[in-house]
Amino acid sequence: MPRREDAPVTTTTISRQQQPPLRAHNRSLVLEALYRDGSMSRADLARRSGLTRPTVSALVSDLIDDGIARELGVRDDARVGKPATLVGIESDAFHIVTVDLSSAERFVGAVVDLRGGVVERASVELDGAVGEAAVGLVERLVDDLGSLTTRPLLGIGVATPGIVDHEGVVRTAVHLGWYDLDLRSRLSDHVGLPVHVGNDSNAAAVGIRTFGETTGQAAAGQSLMVVTIDHGVGVGLVVAGALVEGDQFSAGEIGHVTVDENGDVCACGRRGCLEEVLAAPQLRSRLRQHDEGSRGAVLNDAGRALGLVLAPIISALNLNEVVLSGPADLVEGALLRAARETVRQRTLSAVSNGLIMRIAGSGTDLALLGAASFVLQAELGLT
Ligand SMILES: [Zn+2]
Repeated sequence: MPRREDAPVTTTTISRQQQPPLRAHNRSLVLEALYRDGSMSRADLARRSGLTRPTVSALVSDLIDDGIARELGVRDDARVGKPATLVGIESDAFHIVTVDLSSAERFVGAVVDLRGGVVERASVELDGAVGEAAVGLVERLVDDLGSLTTRPLLGIGVATPGIVDHEGVVRTAVHLGWYDLDLRSRLSDHVGLPVHVGNDSNAAAVGIRTFGETTGQAAAGQSLMVVTIDHGVGVGLVVAGALVEGDQFSAGEIGHVTVDENGDVCACGRRGCLEEVLAAPQLRSRLRQHDEGSRGAVLNDAGRALGLVLAPIISALNLNEVVLSGPADLVEGALLRAARETVRQRTLSAVSNGLIMRIAGSGTDLALLGAASFVLQAELGLT
């Protein structure tokens, strides 16, 4: 795997920590504008970022020197005066290895460029692996992906189910049998690169915010809830542009909210948790027990249970956008319709009138791209 110290491009100079805070902040504003709105002139960058022209010019020079931005030629629609030179992100300056551990069947990963373009993909089958065996599979996947990249790596991003703190310690990931697992240190020792670990649902929400335009999943506003339905059920919540993680990093852990007091016993020891009705393995097993004619009713029940849990959250925060991410054969159709209808019935029209509830087009890549965003945030200062 190409380590950063062997890389042809000097990477140590891009560390935000080495810059004065104000300059690092201003640099983030410029990068942010280039990420959100695409290539533009220095004058447009000054308008978008609220910085002065000389400040923007100096910051752009730095970004070009670091290889992160480049001049893209002259815009040909200039009205009067000298035509403006466009500046854009240099997508291939670095690559990022990103992995998503949320599926019950396999760990998936990709090599992506700085604009979230997927360069290579790889995956490893889980075959029921938990604990140390599962950590070994993550290491193997990261190694496989590292060997596929041709550019210097900016870092490794990991989206994992469970509760993850700011040090990259997975405090609890029940399905993987991980408790207080220092995944960041383990991987970083293994590959010799910066590693950034976050919750998979949070990653999906961050992925839409950072790469929404690239993936056709752009968020409608500044607040957004992503519900991921896979091995478990989780929520990633962005409110007024900021990720909500909670005091114990457990915001969005809706999987063990009780929806049926007489329901099946859950892995957490209680009965009738949302996951027992809605998580992909449980839902698939329930569908197998029913004939074709009653599949719709099973999916309807699952969607209704989700709507029951989401209605008070949507009301409390007046959210306008909810994105369901999960296997298309499960979440599309009856499940989405039932969830939408249940939320509508249980909230004031002032809340539900503006609500968009939709399916994510590419469920798997949202968490992958979000994990890449964790790396961009930490290594380049993107917010
Ligand atoms: Zn439970």
